[in-house]
Amino acid sequence: MQAASLTDQACPFCGLACDDLTLVADDNGVRAAGPACARATRLFATVGAPVQGQAQAWIDGQPALLEAAILRAQQHLGAARAPLFGGLSTDVTGMRALMDLADQRGAVLDHMNAEGKLRNLRTVQDAGWITTTLSEVRNRSDLVVCFGTDVATRYPRFFERCVCVDDTLFAASPLQREVVFVGAPAEAVAAVMQTDGTRAAVTMTAIDIAVDRLPEAAALLRGLVAGTLPPELVTDLPLAALRTLAERLRAAQYGVIVWVAADMDWPHAELTIQALTGLIGTINQTTRCAGLPLGGSDGDFSADAVMLWQTGYPYRTSLASGTGQYDPVMNATAALLTRNEVDLLLWVSTFDPARSVPDTGAVPLVALTGVGTPVLPGAAVQIQVATPGVDASGYYFRADKVVALPLRAVTDRQLPTVAQLARRFASGLGAV
Ligand code: SF4
Repeated sequence: MQAASLTDQACPFCGLACDDLTLVADDNGVRAAGPACARATRLFATVGAPVQGQAQAWIDGQPALLEAAILRAQQHLGAARAPLFGGLSTDVTGMRALMDLADQRGAVLDHMNAEGKLRNLRTVQDAGWITTTLSEVRNRSDLVVCFGTDVATRYPRFFERCVCVDDTLFAASPLQREVVFVGAPAEAVAAVMQTDGTRAAVTMTAIDIAVDRLPEAAALLRGLVAGTLPPELVTDLPLAALRTLAERLRAAQYGVIVWVAADMDWPHAELTIQALTGLIGTINQTTRCAGLPLGGSDGDFSADAVMLWQTGYPYRTSLASGTGQYDPVMNATAALLTRNEVDLLLWVSTFDPARSVPDTGAVPLVALTGVGTPVLPGAAVQIQVATPGVDASGYYFRADKVVALPLRAVTDRQLPTVAQLARRFASGLGAV
């Protein structure tokens, strides 16, 4: 294979979708030559590894010809009366074809990242919010508060690309910025300060708060911003530091509060997010402030966007009745499997081989997985598929959900795409 080098490629391995990568493809696979983060470097090497001479499909854990695996998957789909399409880690193109198949088979749709996404969704449903974009953060913000997250663990180049930058659109010199971490893991924050904290005119500080006190801290910060708390308030939270932060938020020209709902893994986390969106609303009475609820990894915003276009509902929607029935609790993958309410799981995971597949018990599993995913012992059928941005072209919604970036194939390993397989399944099955 002749080596190919492509510049300005978008990366599909986290929600930032950095579109400045140089990728090299040759007989050794796909390699990120720069300026990729460690996560992208690892995943391009894993998901983009050569596959020639290796099995690309399995039936009951045994290597099989692709056509035989497609036929067996079709048989399982045809026999299922209550199928569940889970994972859904693909791009817009793959998701559109899966939606058509789900519509035909009357399936329930649920994404592997739904739990985090729903924490944000419940907040929007209850109270609305004011959010911003990565570009606005880069070009206008003077205060960035990272609440409960170091950001960089899940979005490695966030500070490099959006915060600690020399060039912005509207200022002749680097913007003076302050970054405040509230309740983020100390070691991760120290790593960010050592690398990104030394770039540009940015000051970084941290307020140490245990994870289980973050709901209380968000409520306290909201009260401090609103000025509604009694003066003799008693708390063992770092009140002075939070009071200073509240004052800083009220004085900032463009403050941004960043959170990652996937990290807020505690009961009723949506109430913590509501406290943050509430204080943002208060600040906007006198100056400007916005939220940045980061998501978009594993194609979650791409799948969500397609579902909204086509059904008007987010994930955890059932198409069994011929129309969309959204239920974020009853239609959760784990709940459906536990209650034995589905008789097939079609699992789609193209980006990260480390994402685990739910235990389906006696329910047949048909898995469409990217290169690097181990053979799944319990799968009735497993087919290796192309990954968007590696050997399939497509579109991917970024973490702020305002931009869908084109993903371009950099190699061709003759693997089927999710869209091709979904169309094959649908065409071979006809109406339910
Ligand atoms: S930060 Fe995310 S999108 Fe950017 S190169 Fe790393 S994994 Fe890819």
